[in-house]
Amino acid sequence: MENSEAELIEKIESLKKRRNAVFLVHNYQLGEVQDIADFVGDSLELSQKAAGTDADVIVFCGVHFMAETASIICPDKTVLLPESDAGCPMADMITARYLREKKKEYPKAKVVCYVNSPADVKAESDICCTSANAVGIVEKLAGAEQIVFVPDRYLGDYAARQTGRELILWPGYCPTHVRIKAEDISRQKAEHPQAKIVVHPECLPEAKALADAVLSTGGMIRFARETDAGEVIVGTEIGILHRLRKENPEKRFIPASEQAICPGMKLITLESVLWSLENMEHRVKVPDKIRLKAKTAVDRMLEG
Ligand code: SF4
Repeated sequence: MENSEAELIEKIESLKKRRNAVFLVHNYQLGEVQDIADFVGDSLELSQKAAGTDADVIVFCGVHFMAETASIICPDKTVLLPESDAGCPMADMITARYLREKKKEYPKAKVVCYVNSPADVKAESDICCTSANAVGIVEKLAGAEQIVFVPDRYLGDYAARQTGRELILWPGYCPTHVRIKAEDISRQKAEHPQAKIVVHPECLPEAKALADAVLSTGGMIRFARETDAGEVIVGTEIGILHRLRKENPEKRFIPASEQAICPGMKLITLESVLWSLENMEHRVKVPDKIRLKAKTAVDRMLEG
């Protein structure tokens, strides 16, 4: 017989205590997984939580590169990703080998690496960033002659426009965010003329051009809390709507596109979290040879 949700949660909670585990959950996860989290947040917030936790086990409900980042920051902790196939196609659009070739082309350039990337790519980079701090990180490199920005061309393009710097962009992108078309946003705006529009920097430039604010998911959570607007059109992965609606029941949140679903983010379920804790799988561990180099880039990101 299948476990009821309440039974599942009870088992998860009791095992979580026994293992001294913490649940770090990304804003795009399924609602029921967000509801059992110790912390729900964007990549930057979750990396900061990983750095500060005293738990023995981190159950990372997100995608593979996020669990890797936790392992880079916390090598002594057991980092579990409940679904081994929970990956990010954007992170797969770059490899360390191709980045090394790019660095040979631009030997004087600094490499800024969006955290949505494999650990060995971070190890080849000077500094990491998230969508929350990409602009600030590029500004921080004011003295650099050239900057290569990997792997998201649209976040890179956004950082370039905001800082007025020319960046050498990698041709990667997020297949989920490019589904959000400017026409989708315009259609929603026509139906909800009073609504404010927030859009994620991974979206296409024409979609971002329509936004009242271009924000990371953490930024969207804060915007929703603080805005006077009663309606907000949300241009990012639709998993965030769960939290926006839960935290702001008096406001209305409208997805810019119902198609903006990240398949990797949706693989983790309550069942897989329980399985993960029972079996202590799937362990994500970045080997020291890569980890130590990657950590330098991640630490610089966390310094802001
Ligand atoms: S939403 Fe896009 S960038 Fe984020 S994990 Fe999914 S595919 Fe990767």
